[in-house]
Amino acid sequence: MSAGPIRRSSTWRRSRPFLNVAPSNLIDGRAIAEQIHAETAQRITALKTRGVQPGLAFVRVGEDPASKVYVGMKERASLRLGIFSETQVLPADTAEPKLLALLERLNADPRVHGILVQAPLPAHICAARVYAAVRPQKDVDGFHPINVGKLMLGDPSGFAPCTPAGIQQLLIRSEVDTAGAEAVILGRGDIVGKPMAAILLQKAKHANATVTICHSRTRNLSEHCRRADILVAAMGVAEFVKPGMVKPGAVVIDVGVNRIDDPAAKGGSRLVGDVDFARVQPIAGKITPNPGGVGPMTIAMLMQNTVRAAEWAVGAPNN
Ligand code: NAP
Repeated sequence: MSAGPIRRSSTWRRSRPFLNVAPSNLIDGRAIAEQIHAETAQRITALKTRGVQPGLAFVRVGEDPASKVYVGMKERASLRLGIFSETQVLPADTAEPKLLALLERLNADPRVHGILVQAPLPAHICAARVYAAVRPQKDVDGFHPINVGKLMLGDPSGFAPCTPAGIQQLLIRSEVDTAGAEAVILGRGDIVGKPMAAILLQKAKHANATVTICHSRTRNLSEHCRRADILVAAMGVAEFVKPGMVKPGAVVIDVGVNRIDDPAAKGGSRLVGDVDFARVQPIAGKITPNPGGVGPMTIAMLMQNTVRAAEWAVGAPNN
């Protein structure tokens, strides 16, 4: 399926003055996320005719400003789609057993089909133990070891982490053929890099790529990048990917979210990705803007996973 027409707000255009021609090589994450929301909304309607409202619980520990923003965005998306949501906020000094007890309660709550524990957790809490405490069937973030294992095995009954699953949807819906493609992933994080690699290397439709993962110890990183037909930047290093690192015509996916100082911007700073977008966009075959690329897809996939969890819970047919 191809993306719908690209519509842009005047604010979006003003913030990208270098785009003086139709940005035909843009992968519009907002538009594609809207397509997925529309599909999810239909599934929610079907569930509601059976008397089921999908439910999603957010757990936030501490007052990390970015986490508050992310949970707020996910709460609003839930509300918009008619997914019941509840948010549990625990103080930053919460002892781990108390958090685990909360997860136990949410695991047992039939109104809650999905549970999301917002990262990062405070340093005194073992994130791995927390993710493993969420019931795999409610682990809509895809971080439970069972779901991580299913992803590696190519077992579709698990949940894939939302960001890489969303990137795969961006590629599918932008008609990017991944079969046999050289896919280079910058970053081996558990949330993006590693699961992205697992998704793209599956012996399956919309995968079958030849995958390379680069990290801070990779030698000749630029050479790896220049080989890429598909380059996924998920490092958290502002504007790291420069034009000389990109093969002309390559598909470039920018995952990074980095705040940089900018005296001209409101508040003295602004967000940028891991790709030097202004200079890479002219040579890329397709490229995600940032913001407006991967971010909306992460939320769309979270909503979709929650609906899948609700469908499973009530034995409804699903995709
Ligand atoms: P992470 O777990 O910290 O992983 C970062 C990876 O980048 C690590 O593998 C690290 O290498 C590598 N790296 C860092 N600096 C490097 C350098 N100079 N050269 C080569 N490799 C380098 O981060 P993450 O959770 O995967 O997130 C990555 C970025 O994506 C962040 O900016 C995050 O905010 C963003 N993100 C966005 C979304 C979204 O929805 N838009 C969702 C999730 C994450 P080592 O392993 O060797 O240290």
